[in-house]
Amino acid sequence: MPFGNTHNKYKLNFKSEEEYPDLSKHNNHMAKVLNPELYKKLRDKETPSGFTLDDVIQTGVDNPGHPFIMTVGCVAGDEESYMVFKDLFDPIIQDRHGGYKPTDKHKTDLNHENLKVGCPQGRGEGWESEGRGMRRREEGGDDLDPNYVLSSRVRTGRSIKGFSLPPHCSRGERRAVEKLAVEALNSLTGEFKGKYYPLKNMTDKEQQQLIDDHFLFDKPVSPLLLASGMARDWPDARGIWHNDNKSFLVWVNEEDHLRVISMEKGGNMKQVFRRFCLGLQKIEEIFKKAGHPFMWNEHLGYVLTCPSNLGTGLRGGVHVKLAHLSKHPKFEEILTRLRLQKRGTGGVDTAAVGSVFDVSNADRLGSSEVEQVQLVVDGVKLMVEMEKKLEKGQSIDDMIPAQK
Ligand code: ADP
Ligand code: MG
Repeated sequence: MPFGNTHNKYKLNFKSEEEYPDLSKHNNHMAKVLNPELYKKLRDKETPSGFTLDDVIQTGVDNPGHPFIMTVGCVAGDEESYMVFKDLFDPIIQDRHGGYKPTDKHKTDLNHENLKVGCPQGRGEGWESEGRGMRRREEGGDDLDPNYVLSSRVRTGRSIKGFSLPPHCSRGERRAVEKLAVEALNSLTGEFKGKYYPLKNMTDKEQQQLIDDHFLFDKPVSPLLLASGMARDWPDARGIWHNDNKSFLVWVNEEDHLRVISMEKGGNMKQVFRRFCLGLQKIEEIFKKAGHPFMWNEHLGYVLTCPSNLGTGLRGGVHVKLAHLSKHPKFEEILTRLRLQKRGTGGVDTAAVGSVFDVSNADRLGSSEVEQVQLVVDGVKLMVEMEKKLEKGQSIDDMIPAQK
């Protein structure tokens, strides 16, 4: 399992150009930004925990491109990475997050009541008439048509201040994170009451079942995960905690210290987001009280392992059946205009099989949790309307949205 070249100080005996990686076949954000001068400037720097430039970029060197998404090609090993290697991270962040500048400030809004469910913007003018009679869109409810939206999910990551991140953490740090997480999560009550299942106590069958049911992270097979060093010591100190009905889940020590997930079958994104916000805030409170706040700052929002997740760390998405729309020549353009992205339903490394897609928000940084989930709710609703039109053989030309 590759793990960068940390701690190799002999490399400094070579000239910078002799160490410079071959990026000639590469297409990721890191490869677009890195150049020999920048490499020379940063290559002998390290963070207080000892993370170096070569550790930052190794995943992008080993993975020239990804078949389905434009990857970032670098990771942070600790909170300080984003400062020490700012000259590399800032332009990557700017590139990946729609021009987000080093002076920009991020917004946080975890008040689930600010989410408006109902008609897509500009349609229905706040009133929803289909099926359930007229009612105000603010009332929400199970809002996305479950005949098309098979499941809804919102997740984010959180990092615990003072510990190195998964690409760099030691076994001891990782176990300490697990211990803190389990103590915090086990103190939750009511709809959040649940139990922790360490990976090493699971049989292969149990683990596979959880993966197949979309509850658990995949085995460490993703080249992105492997090359960044996040799979070291697997399955030590990894696990999943979930509430009794598996609608609120926390992954421990996968790509981030914590991945907090709210999900359920069907299209009730409002309910999923409510549970997400409340559960997440409860967890944050417990960690704070125990003297372990999450990594957060005004500029980057929540600090996470992958620069693509900075900000809210939020991916709100649905598994949605779009048999006709997905074959429409404007499908990609519609997604882009709605600020949405698609992947296969088996996770980031999978292509869509058949007509079901994972459709989620493209943005994480510079807009709030509520705003990002709002885009998903409104966008998916519009796409389902389009799908219904196409089913009837009607045109959707007058429904193509403007760029959001
Ligand atoms: P992330 O890294 O955002 O958590 P991945 O693409 O790595 O997402 O997928 C992780 C797991 O979550 C996969 O099993 C995937 O099928 C599942 N998943 C993602 N979105 C949904 C959804 N809307 N409904 C059900 N399962 C989902
Ligand atoms: Mg993932």
